[in-house]
Amino acid sequence: MSIDEHKVAAELYISAEEFDRSIDIMVHNCWTHMLLELGRHTDKAEETVLSRIGDELRKLGDTESAVEIYAKLGKDMGPDMVSLHVEAHNWDQAFALVEKNPIFAPLVYLPYAEWLAENDKFVEAQKAFLKGGRPERAFQVLQMLTENAVDEQRFQDAGHYYWLLSRQYLNIASNSNENSQNDKMINQYNLYDKYASIYYAYNAIHRYMEDPFMSYQPETLFNISRFLMNETKNIHLKGVSKFAILYSLSKQALTMRAFKLARQILTKLQQLRIPSEYQDYVDLASLSIRAKPFHDNEDLLSMCYRCLTYNSPVVQTCITCNHKFIFSHIKFEILPLIEFQLEDNISDTEALKLIQNSHDESKSKQSENKSQKMNTFILDEESQDQSVDPFTYKLMNFENKENSYQPIKVNKTILQSMSTTSIIVCKWPKPLKFKYYRNVLPGFLVTNCQNCFKMFHSDEYEVEVLRFGYCPFCRTKTG
Ligand SMILES: [Zn+2]
Ligand SMILES: [Zn+2]
Repeated sequence: MSIDEHKVAAELYISAEEFDRSIDIMVHNCWTHMLLELGRHTDKAEETVLSRIGDELRKLGDTESAVEIYAKLGKDMGPDMVSLHVEAHNWDQAFALVEKNPIFAPLVYLPYAEWLAENDKFVEAQKAFLKGGRPERAFQVLQMLTENAVDEQRFQDAGHYYWLLSRQYLNIASNSNENSQNDKMINQYNLYDKYASIYYAYNAIHRYMEDPFMSYQPETLFNISRFLMNETKNIHLKGVSKFAILYSLSKQALTMRAFKLARQILTKLQQLRIPSEYQDYVDLASLSIRAKPFHDNEDLLSMCYRCLTYNSPVVQTCITCNHKFIFSHIKFEILPLIEFQLEDNISDTEALKLIQNSHDESKSKQSENKSQKMNTFILDEESQDQSVDPFTYKLMNFENKENSYQPIKVNKTILQSMSTTSIIVCKWPKPLKFKYYRNVLPGFLVTNCQNCFKMFHSDEYEVEVLRFGYCPFCRTKTG
């Protein structure tokens, strides 16, 4: 049959009121215009016919016409209309319907979140939501996406979404003047940032459990499980198995001859519900550990860069000075960083200038002027060994009067005495404060992402950035 003959046939069926047959012909030829015309001329009472016309238009991708027919059927506000807009990616209209009828939210948010993720438009859309005064929409979308990622065991994605969520809270706090609300937002920010790190790190453990022969080095798995064991102490996160974390830690501890630790972990493992396929391992390892020495391999002890105390391999805070270890966010090894604070009379702007200047000085030959300044300082600090750098001197003489963590405080002279390359400044947005760190091992380069402020071993960070083009943690594009 030619096209003209099809047309005549379709019209004939209409006049004979054999609508289904005429619709079949129109659909076969993708005649959306004719379908719409038929819909327009069909009486409202003919619900079956109208419904079919609407559905066919929808399938053929003519959303606008389908909307018109659904509207005629009185489905303007119904779930069909919502799905229609979702399929056609008419997000504004879909959200307008959700606004009028919030029970449709799940029909829209999840597909929207997926669409955003597929199209790499997440961050822009979040900004648009916030700008449009609809932060809750941004949260809902992200929450859906996060839950989905966890359900599908895409833990790295889950970590990334939690990081985005945490940033939403920080943004709200940064843009608001209400202090009472800010505390809440900051707490929420801290919590989600923590979740982000947990899921991000847990990805490695999950992969190890799926395939124990994969190419993680024992040290890396050891560091990651150690980090996770501490981070998940009082937290139960969906999909994160404490058994898996401790199992991996016990395995690496045995491999690396941390027998004291392995013993502790195996005892803890026995208190958990052990998946049947691991029961033999736990039983056997618990038996064989009895014949092993009672101490850990000394190489695995965590040295505190601040007070030089050797700590048990699993602690995250020095038992002597309460210094919090700072981990690289790739292999989770301890970085040689010491946090410090400015004395009260120094502003951040001033500090940045001083740090910059100290860089200029370090470039030039030690000017007499400078050494004079240093001498004055040294005299001020009584009879100090002149060869010791002022920051180290301060460290050595730091007395922690309280039983909690107290960052070391530095004055202008000390600030100027340090070379720029040894200082890392995290310029956190308000209401958070800038954070300052000194790298005490000049040969060990540390990189700090300017967006998430996580720290990295520079070499490892560069490899990741070359591979993916973005920060491995927050996925902010670099360069
Ligand atoms: Zn210490
Ligand atoms: Zn980052």
